[in-house]
Amino acid sequence: MRSDPADYQLVAPNTLQGVVSLLAEEPGAWLPIAGGTDVMVQYAAGKLPARRLVSIWNLPELRQVEVLPGEIHIGAGCTYTDLRNHVIVAREFSLLASAASWTGGIANQNRGTLGGNIGNASPAADSLPALLVYDAELILVSIRGERRVPYRDFHTGYKKTRLAADELIQAICLPRQFAEYVSYTRKVGARNAQAISKVCVAALGTIRAADGAIENVRVAAGSVAPVPIRLVETERLVMGKRAEPSLLALARKTVAAEIKPIDDIRSSAKYRAAVAGNLVQEFLLKLGSSKPS
Ligand SMILES: Cc1cc2nc3c(=O)[nH]c(=O)nc-3n(C[C@H](O)[C@H](O)[C@H](O)COP(=O)(O)OP(=O)(O)OC[C@H]3O[C@@H](n4cnc5c(N)ncnc54)[C@H](O)[C@@H]3O)c2cc1C
Repeated sequence: MRSDPADYQLVAPNTLQGVVSLLAEEPGAWLPIAGGTDVMVQYAAGKLPARRLVSIWNLPELRQVEVLPGEIHIGAGCTYTDLRNHVIVAREFSLLASAASWTGGIANQNRGTLGGNIGNASPAADSLPALLVYDAELILVSIRGERRVPYRDFHTGYKKTRLAADELIQAICLPRQFAEYVSYTRKVGARNAQAISKVCVAALGTIRAADGAIENVRVAAGSVAPVPIRLVETERLVMGKRAEPSLLALARKTVAAEIKPIDDIRSSAKYRAAVAGNLVQEFLLKLGSSKPS
């Protein structure tokens, strides 16, 4: 351990109101800590710049999943285990349930939260491509009130977000309109558990009954750009067409042209581009061979 606990202060108000009041007193002075699975890695390495931590772990207001007729609101403090065990998440948001199932090992899933995965703002975070294709919106809360922002606008650059210094992510809202879509997701890493993604993809689509063409398509990828991204050019290319070999070849090229992968300790830009193309092709093959909606 390269940090000395005596250098740090940790407080744990037991209500959401208590936390946002503290954040408002000195915006930016307190770092929220939920499960701590990212924060404590920095701490252990002696690289945690924040010295004052406010625990939001297990706050009841952040731990609920509210199921409404048109959408579900997942509390930002829900753990991966909570997500894996939730019937509606498993049934209607399988991309998120799958991401939860391969985010670290079981111990990590019992502590790590969806809000923490968003707040940590890593381009390799496994749940974020799913949030992009599901058109997630975030409820942000402070003593000034609540505001709702589309998740696609939240990550503005590498490790940068639109979260104000006095705000918390309260909940993640997902519209309940994709349950009938064909879904596809894959993580490619050194191994399944306890490995950060080299590339991860989440995708949804439907096939038109009249002619077997692709009528809806949504594809997002992580670890291929400074933030998780929708592959909008590739989506545009394949919309309204049948998933035939010539289209798949073109789609691979389009994927390579619209991502911006880098070389780092986990992988190379070349490998990431090849794998991203393979995964999108695998999705399109699955979609093309599915039953029309
Ligand atoms: C062994 C191990 C394996 C891992 N494997 C994976 C993996 O496979 N895939 C993956 O994506 N990640 C992985 N991670 C990273 C981590 O587990 C996830 O990012 C997790 O979701 C973080 O959640 P947390 O609650 O622990 O966040 P914390 O560490 O508590 O916080 C992380 C950041 O988010 C902020 N934050 C937390 N909650 C909120 C909130 N409600 N509002 C605003 N800001 C907030 C904190 O201030 C901090 O900046 C792994 C980590 C470890 C230690």
